[in-house]
Amino acid sequence: MSEKIFIGVAWPYANGPLHLGHIAGAYLPPDIFARYHRTKGNEVLMVSGSDQHGTPITIRAEQEGKTPGEIVTRYHQQFLDSWQKLGISFDLFTSTGTANHAQVAQDIFLTLLKKGYIYKDTVSQPFCLHCQRFLPDRYIEGTCPYCSSSGARGDQCDECGKPINAADLIEPRCSFCDAAPEFKDSEHFFLKLTAFEDRLLAWVKQQTHWRPNVLSFTTRYLEGGLKDRAITRDIDWGIPLPLDGFEKKRLYVWFEAVIGYLSAAKEWAKSSGDEEKWRSFWQGEVKSYYFIGKDNISFHTIIWPAMLMGCDGLNLPYDVPANEFLTIEGKQLSTSRNWAVWLPDYLARYDPDPLRYLLSINMPETADTDFSWREFIRRNNDELVATYGNLVHRVLTFVYRNFDGCVPVPGELDSRSQTIIGSAKDTLSKMDGLLYHCHFREAIRSAMSLAQEANRYLDAKSPWKTIKQDRQAAATALYVAISVISCLRTALYPFLPFSSQRLHEFLGFKGSVEDDGWQPRLPTEGQKLLPPEPLFLKLDGELVDKETSRLGQVHY
Ligand SMILES: [Zn+2]
Ligand SMILES: [Zn+2]
Repeated sequence: MSEKIFIGVAWPYANGPLHLGHIAGAYLPPDIFARYHRTKGNEVLMVSGSDQHGTPITIRAEQEGKTPGEIVTRYHQQFLDSWQKLGISFDLFTSTGTANHAQVAQDIFLTLLKKGYIYKDTVSQPFCLHCQRFLPDRYIEGTCPYCSSSGARGDQCDECGKPINAADLIEPRCSFCDAAPEFKDSEHFFLKLTAFEDRLLAWVKQQTHWRPNVLSFTTRYLEGGLKDRAITRDIDWGIPLPLDGFEKKRLYVWFEAVIGYLSAAKEWAKSSGDEEKWRSFWQGEVKSYYFIGKDNISFHTIIWPAMLMGCDGLNLPYDVPANEFLTIEGKQLSTSRNWAVWLPDYLARYDPDPLRYLLSINMPETADTDFSWREFIRRNNDELVATYGNLVHRVLTFVYRNFDGCVPVPGELDSRSQTIIGSAKDTLSKMDGLLYHCHFREAIRSAMSLAQEANRYLDAKSPWKTIKQDRQAAATALYVAISVISCLRTALYPFLPFSSQRLHEFLGFKGSVEDDGWQPRLPTEGQKLLPPEPLFLKLDGELVDKETSRLGQVHY
């Protein structure tokens, strides 16, 4: 029976281009997962969108002398373009700037308010006398009250990952002028997180299938005790409160952005012509997965679940497979220091699959991993081209030339041939288990070891030599090799969708790889092949130095 899978993907701030850290952390994993489930015949809804509110946007707009609207439009378009080129197959990539999202966010606010989970209180807000303005959280910096690291902002400490109330920062400073802000009273609405503490803790303790880092971070956080948090701000860029008398306030971005998962599902349902269809991915027998980077864990394992508990009747996350970070050439990725490989820059010059390959086989699932151009080119040349691409190319070109462009008719399979066909089937079923449990790195490694095994098989059988004396033996070996290649087409499809689809067509299959299902589908004898072409390009070793020296230089 087919399963229903809801996939929520972190909402990127529309204030700058995507870089490889984003992709390895939050965007490639859900795409692999979605493609795998679709191939299995499961129903998938994968959504995300641009986060158009919040101070990262207004900061960027002020820096560039543009309106926030101009900034978000530019980057939203760029995101859409990147998804298409990289093959990130969202069912809907929307934005928090839609009327639908504002409506859904305001509805949730009112529901929680009615149920007593949102209340009004007076807080002191940082106000810079020099700049004559209330300072939103990201405009205030200071020392973290939890870990004493110095670069904490008014919303979060990047060092220890904890959310912070601006008033709790030690030695706070205005990030425009460095003056110490005053604190002025202002009326705000609070989410009563304390009301959910026990329920959250009991729920989290049952999530033994979560990644250890996610589970332990969340448990420690909850055991440390929750604080109610202000969910409104004195700003004019954002979603208005659905109440009279608060025209100068907006919903705070972290409160409304997570609601995007629900509003996107509703938007998708509306555009499908069945407005109620979102329910089939939010209620009942559905598993909900949230793919995010580790800096986002508490919003998805504590705050969003608390809001969902408060609303009642909506599914809680089933899993939050947060990834660790990607470093670049051994150094922490930094957008402000421009130490990043920008995705649009990569995609303008290289194919998508080699990047998807490297970030999959080296995915920061359990620990930080590093991206270097040397590694990228080495793995492209030694693994994608030499191990997999050449296997496919030498088999298909040889068969195409010597067997009238058709899959050869095999004789009886000897034990070695039966063994490798068995390995191909085993690999698909082993990967099935790994992918189901979000172990992407191990899954692609299994596929690549099957490719290595196929190369050893071919070396032993050498059909290019035997064809002269024993055409039947050569035909059998080539048929077996094509069968294994056909399994690799499916096995690698979630990771390398572009080259897998091309291979699918070279093998003479119609439609898409997904149509064939997650199962070994062996080509039929005599099946007509298309003229093969290399799947991957070898990259010049000189690119290592060229690309490495561009780091920190290219601005986007
Ligand atoms: Zn100031
Ligand atoms: Zn800290």
